[in-house]
Amino acid sequence: TSTVALPTTADLRERALDALLRCGVRPEATWAPGTGPAGSLTARTPITGGDLRDVAAAGTADIDAAVAAAHDAFGIWRKVPAPLRGVLVRRLAELLRDHRQELADLVTVEAGKIRSEALGEVQEMIDVCEFAVGLSRQLYGRTMPSERPGHRMMETWHPLGVVGLITAFNFPVAVWAWNTAIALVCGDTVVWKPSELTPLTALACTALLERAAADSGAPHDVHRLVLGDGVVGQHIVDSPRIALVSATGSTRMGRSVGPRVAARFGRSILELGGNNAAVVTGSADLDLTAQSIVFAAAGTAGQRCTTLRRLIVHADVADALTEKLRVAYGALPIGDPFAGQTLVGPLINADSYQRQRAALDQARRDGGEVLAGGSRRLADTAADAYYVEPALVRMPAQTDVVREETFAPILYVLTYHELDEAIALHNAVPQGLSSSIFTRDQAEAERFLAADGSDCGIANVNIGTSGAEIGGAFGGEKETGGGRESGSDAWRAYMRRATNTVNYSGELRLAQNVSFTG
Ligand code: NAD
Repeated sequence: TSTVALPTTADLRERALDALLRCGVRPEATWAPGTGPAGSLTARTPITGGDLRDVAAAGTADIDAAVAAAHDAFGIWRKVPAPLRGVLVRRLAELLRDHRQELADLVTVEAGKIRSEALGEVQEMIDVCEFAVGLSRQLYGRTMPSERPGHRMMETWHPLGVVGLITAFNFPVAVWAWNTAIALVCGDTVVWKPSELTPLTALACTALLERAAADSGAPHDVHRLVLGDGVVGQHIVDSPRIALVSATGSTRMGRSVGPRVAARFGRSILELGGNNAAVVTGSADLDLTAQSIVFAAAGTAGQRCTTLRRLIVHADVADALTEKLRVAYGALPIGDPFAGQTLVGPLINADSYQRQRAALDQARRDGGEVLAGGSRRLADTAADAYYVEPALVRMPAQTDVVREETFAPILYVLTYHELDEAIALHNAVPQGLSSSIFTRDQAEAERFLAADGSDCGIANVNIGTSGAEIGGAFGGEKETGGGRESGSDAWRAYMRRATNTVNYSGELRLAQNVSFTG
């Protein structure tokens, strides 16, 4: 692997500030690091580990005020016809397109994504806005035949209320757009609590949406931002005026959020951790497979919920495939994510690096053999930044460490002999987000996609586990939380359904032939 030199924190700070201002964030909304008011949050960059800007964290009163304002705005917004709500989202898409570079800069500075992936994340925002604009004329209900003469039955989809949106650091803008674009056309308003690790991208998105609202005549408070950590998140979770909590993050977070929302009979969409696997059969095209695997496992430095973490390879092709991967891993440029040639940027922080180390140590103790990577890079030039070589580890069995999600680029390799054995191994983890099979045998592919195949929310053939398009419903089963967002009919979770029966017969007729006359 080669190493790509890093920019300075001062350069990154300037780049971030410039991007914020261009997106319309007011200069007084952030402070030089260390100069913000008491209780400020400091935005930092994983590229050097340096501090960027201070931002104001929300206190309890701020959160309550934001929820109240969004609740008031809901009273207005729900009465605006859906196609006119789409006008706001269409304007947002235009502004996102105009500020594509600035948003991508902020994603790279705060989340450490390489240029192409940061731009791709912004593209995903634009895509989902366009989808939502079309959807604003397609919030279809059904009509169904009534069993009673002179009666009509139908269902109507109405706006739900305020959506409390909690998001993770690793998709700091796309997940916001998935939820916000859909929620807004559905007639809901949004209170957003982004990751405490990416507050600057959140300020930029908020400024653009505020401008879109002003330009399109929508109420200002259709969207409110509250910055802070998990404690702020908990306050949102417990707010009775939040109808739907859409939370993306670790399974640990979801284990707290799910029951708390359920206890007050709120609704939730949980998008939690994954532990995604690919089955590689004896008939697979190994060049295509290796290429797909390298992107899925090493891309985003292993910090996607859909990152490929387990490879279940037929014993006949395991050596040939791992050799191709070993060579590809050895050629991955690691370092400055702004540099055009870089493919692997930094881990988000020191905790993430500690977890990477601990997982590799445990894998070795379990009998694993590290075939490639795993070491730290650039520690001498940036002691507070954590660059690691993506690791390829051959395991004798699917031990506990393999069954956990370690949010770093570690790919465990297991072998199998019979497809049933591969599918059993595949499904024997607590998470159920994304999955793939690489094969040229149609029967094997169909078996993987069948009811007794992959148990994940996403199951692919001959492509990797990551990099979903917005048109499909996104989410997973088991400890991944069961939620679905983005395309298909995921919008239904953001609305309430009313069943309507209309009697135009002039006579009272009871269903099931019930008679109630004396
Ligand atoms: P995290 O769980 O640490 O934080 C996610 C968000 O939840 C943050 O905004 C955080 O402040 C908030 N939070 C934490 N504890 C909370 C609590 N008790 N109540 C309310 N809010 C709370 O996750 P992270 O490190 O930012 O992101 C990485 C994780 O997110 C990985 O597990 C990854 O798989 C998952 N993820 C899942 C998806 C998906 O769609 N399934 C997408 C992206 C990331």
